[in-house]
Amino acid sequence: MVPDVPAIHRRFDYSVPPALEQQIRVGSRVRIELHGRRVAAWVVEDDVVPGDGVSPKPLASSSGQGPPPAVVSMAEWAAWRWAGPMSSFLGTASPIRVVRDAGTLPAGQERSHGVGGGPPPVPPSPGGGSVDIVDAAMAGGSVPAIVRLAPALDAMLVVLELVHRTGPAGVLVLAPSHTRAAQAADRLRASGLPVALMPDRWEQAASGRSLVVGTRAAAWAPVPRLRGAVVMDAHDEAYREERSPTWSAVDVVVERGRRDGAGVVLVSPCPPVSLTGTRAPVTTSRALERRGWPTVEIVDRTHDDPRTGLFSERMARLLHSVLARPDGRVVCILNRTGRIRLLACTRCGALARCARCGGAVAQPEAAGAFQCRRCEETRPAVCAECDSTRLKSLRIGVTRATEELSALAGVEAVEITSGSDPAAGAGARLVVGTEAALHRVPSADAVVFLDIDQHLLAPRFAAGEETLALLARASRLVGTRDRGGRVVVQTRIPDHEVLQAAARADPALLAVPELALRESLLLPPFGALAVLRGPGGATFAAGIRAVSGMAVSMADADRWVVRAPDHRMLCDALAVVPRPAGRLRVEVDPTDV
Ligand SMILES: [Zn+2]
Ligand SMILES: [Zn+2]
Repeated sequence: MVPDVPAIHRRFDYSVPPALEQQIRVGSRVRIELHGRRVAAWVVEDDVVPGDGVSPKPLASSSGQGPPPAVVSMAEWAAWRWAGPMSSFLGTASPIRVVRDAGTLPAGQERSHGVGGGPPPVPPSPGGGSVDIVDAAMAGGSVPAIVRLAPALDAMLVVLELVHRTGPAGVLVLAPSHTRAAQAADRLRASGLPVALMPDRWEQAASGRSLVVGTRAAAWAPVPRLRGAVVMDAHDEAYREERSPTWSAVDVVVERGRRDGAGVVLVSPCPPVSLTGTRAPVTTSRALERRGWPTVEIVDRTHDDPRTGLFSERMARLLHSVLARPDGRVVCILNRTGRIRLLACTRCGALARCARCGGAVAQPEAAGAFQCRRCEETRPAVCAECDSTRLKSLRIGVTRATEELSALAGVEAVEITSGSDPAAGAGARLVVGTEAALHRVPSADAVVFLDIDQHLLAPRFAAGEETLALLARASRLVGTRDRGGRVVVQTRIPDHEVLQAAARADPALLAVPELALRESLLLPPFGALAVLRGPGGATFAAGIRAVSGMAVSMADADRWVVRAPDHRMLCDALAVVPRPAGRLRVEVDPTDV
């Protein structure tokens, strides 16, 4: 038994009373007596032979169905992979409401397909390019297949083509948001397919006879044996659990596919190199990919005086021309939280960046050397372009951005941040906000990134890929270049590979330098990382060093980074070192390094 108590990482043996024998199998939810308390638990092993002289207590009661044995075994793997308690994964994999055993069904009904007993319908092939894409994705025989599809191209055609080949039974489709999952489910139902939308249709998913659609948690859907899977927008950070254990739905689905011999297709307009590794993704023709991106216009502000503030002349003209139309709508994005101070050369206008990783540099001591905020590389405090020693910090006032934009455009601007009322901005013609606005506003004529450099130079190695994902997200709001869709970025780094990749609708332009950088710094996919936090971190870090000889560095007073050649070595070390008494949070595959 694994008790549903996060602090307990142990297993306990219990016996099954004869009256419950029919209902209990691996995965079943039960209640047990533990240290004088009744707690919920899962059966994770049966036919266990107790040690000599041990007679286990009987379990107290049955609480209905839990995940099938294949998913219980996945929870055991995930507990190793993300260094967390198995109970947290079993919890995600279990139904919200109690599902009583279906063991009363006659055996024949269990094996038949569909409610009516006939085989489930197979949808027609959608034809066109999706046939070639799924052919190419499957030809590699590798798990997973990665498909790069421009933002405006329809990923559902890939799903329909895959289901045409496998049939709907046991196929899993993940979307990054509930809205998109519900839309996908509607579309698949409209093709006459049996669809279990998670989390409500747990029982239907457990039957193994339906297509299963859902968000992150649906990676743990109770499909007895996976027959195929598609993850839409596989780059999306919504697939990663932010709280520890920091598991990723993409990795869970890939592992399930590998175990069950099922094809897994990861679709993204900008697949990150942590997913692709050194393989080139399957993609459409260049012409089609180009048509699936909007016009991405780079406004070079290198020669603008920093005192001109957030708004270039070009941007002011764009605002006026779009808002002159009665239904024109512009969304302006400004990263307000965690802003970093950027240094610019007063002679040539270049931003001061790290020569090794391209991140922003700071000057920790007056008149001292510049130091990178990502990789800590130092260099002399001069402009790398013109050797000038006169660099100034760019102070862009953000507090008044909404008022200033309203005044500039002559239209009332509405502010949207992650804390705003969900209804805010509905129908507004000028929206100013953080990237949360890109999730709230369904469509716009133009999206303007007022200061894209804040995103590009953020002190995280994934900053480049995250910014390209943000540009792809903005692209969905404005539509294709043929329909006049336009994304505008204001920058002092116009040649940055992320901006060039988006402007030329060719994400490979970013993947090549990104791989080279990661290889030189032994970052994923060329290594594996974990971050340790909390009072117990020091003891645990010392333990990891002692058993594995892996590099463990102290990043802040309360934060350590463990670097390993691969996940196997990393996770093995995290599993064998005893947990210290003090509070400890372990984040495998951290996103803030
Ligand atoms: Zn300069
Ligand atoms: Zn650096």
